[in-house]
Amino acid sequence: MLTDIFTPADCAACKLCCNFHRCSAWETPALESELIYLLQEECVPLEKRQDGSTSFYLHFCTNSEDEVANCPMLDLQRGCTLPRELRPFECRIWPLRLMKDASTLVIGLYQNCPALKDDSTLQKLTDFATGQLLPILLDHAKKHPHAVREMNPAYSIIWREK
Ligand code: SF4
Ligand code: SF4
Repeated sequence: MLTDIFTPADCAACKLCCNFHRCSAWETPALESELIYLLQEECVPLEKRQDGSTSFYLHFCTNSEDEVANCPMLDLQRGCTLPRELRPFECRIWPLRLMKDASTLVIGLYQNCPALKDDSTLQKLTDFATGQLLPILLDHAKKHPHAVREMNPAYSIIWREK
């Protein structure tokens, strides 16, 4: 969805959004109900999260908060192995995220994404997120409340519902 803004090479070199610390396991993508059956058919390991949504199972070996586990769909050489049509919405919009600031819907931007290396890329992404993409984001938030996350200091707010 954001391929006009980031090159696939940016993400292939980084893969930051495809591995998770135990303490940030809440960030794994909430899977849309229509994807779950299709992913189960492909034997993708899934688990129910505490908030009731379904996501990928992360294989942690210890209880350390700092231990990192890769998404089971990540290939370290090739990147995400899921075909585009099976990728969760949250993966397709990253580093944007639907969030809640108190009870207000906001669009968060993950500040440590290395692809946001200059002001013009940041501006292009912000314009796209608050323009052409906005109706799609709002529709997704309405249909998939589990994809709307609590605000977190790693994100800045680029749009707020009035
Ligand atoms: S953090 Fe940014 S550059 Fe890295 S994989 Fe995610 S979107 Fe791509
Ligand atoms: S499904 Fe793909 S893009 Fe999403 S976290 Fe897993 S490897 Fe990354």
